[in-house]
Amino acid sequence: MSTIDSLPLRDELRGKSPYGAPQLDVPVRLNTNENPYPLPEELVERIAERVTEAARRLNRYPDRDAVELRTELARYLTRTAGHRVGHAQVWAANGSNEVIQQLLQTFGGPGRTALGFEPSYSMHALISRGTGTGWLSGPRNADFTIDVEAAERAIAEHRPDVVFVCSPNNPTGTAVDEATVLRLYAAAQAARPEYGALVVVDEAYGEFSHHPSLLPLIEGRPTLVLSRTMSKAFGAAGLRLGYLAADPAVVDAVQLVRLPYHLSAVTQATALAALEHTDTLLGYVEQLKAERDRLVTGLRAAGCEVTPSDANFVQFGRFADSHEAWQALLAHGVLVRDNGVPGWLRVTAGTPEENDAFLEAVRAVTKDLKEKSER
Ligand SMILES: *Cc1c(COP(=O)(O)O)cnc(C)c1O
Repeated sequence: MSTIDSLPLRDELRGKSPYGAPQLDVPVRLNTNENPYPLPEELVERIAERVTEAARRLNRYPDRDAVELRTELARYLTRTAGHRVGHAQVWAANGSNEVIQQLLQTFGGPGRTALGFEPSYSMHALISRGTGTGWLSGPRNADFTIDVEAAERAIAEHRPDVVFVCSPNNPTGTAVDEATVLRLYAAAQAARPEYGALVVVDEAYGEFSHHPSLLPLIEGRPTLVLSRTMSKAFGAAGLRLGYLAADPAVVDAVQLVRLPYHLSAVTQATALAALEHTDTLLGYVEQLKAERDRLVTGLRAAGCEVTPSDANFVQFGRFADSHEAWQALLAHGVLVRDNGVPGWLRVTAGTPEENDAFLEAVRAVTKDLKEKSER
């Protein structure tokens, strides 16, 4: 057997690890920001109907441009995100990870760079690497907000082709305000006066935020792109459906790199069924927001520090050794995420029962760790 190092790998992939949140068999799994609620039964039945219809035509390629789906996604955004868009401003792919990959294939690539503000969603850097795009790590303040002045300097100095703004930010839960995005956009345009730079606002957790969507900012800003997903609020991580909203020219541009028929007929049918049940699914979002806030209160009561969260997860700490705390929670049957942010862990809001089990484990673990440190 050979190892991957004995293969003619691209240099930038040598010695690197793949994306990998542990998929462990643990009673309470709160580590990947999934929605804990299975889809409601009537939606499951509607999916079966729509997929059956699609199956009768599987001998044919699907609608390459997914126009019906993009129209429904546009309708959803118009209704919930405070700005009117049509299908010409919306593009869909297999998860927002594929949306981001297509954006980087189109606007990044060899000889170009992307900048993000870390800690943030690790896939921005990983997909950059996968597409041959150089990666630049920008600064954050101690409270995990973006240090705008330092960011403006970094953009002016490095002149990135793509800037990622994750709001609410994963793993910290931090929302980015409109004024910050506008300043970053202006800096990115000034640094690249000829064509401007692409600013990608990753709003994967937008539906969970206390703040309105940043969607209206795409108006009159041809290189501002909003990225969304059905993996979190829609409770459909298994579906693999992400989408973007931007100037129609951006939608035309990503078609230069998308694979033909990239969205299967089954995916399109399933996503359309889910969009028929938006109101029920957004009802779960309201419950999860309440649970998220209960986690914040419970964690603080247990003596933890908490980063204010606008997402369906909470960053908590601070631990002298976050990996030790992660391990101790695991021993109590609770799997959370160690994102490698020193001192901090991240927990996803689960069902009320799961959150109770988590909070109980936290109380036990913080008590143990405190006693240990006093010994
Ligand atoms: C979960 C997540 C996504 C979602 O990716 P999908 O490919 O749509 O499942 C995108 N961005 C961020 C910041 C995320 O945390």
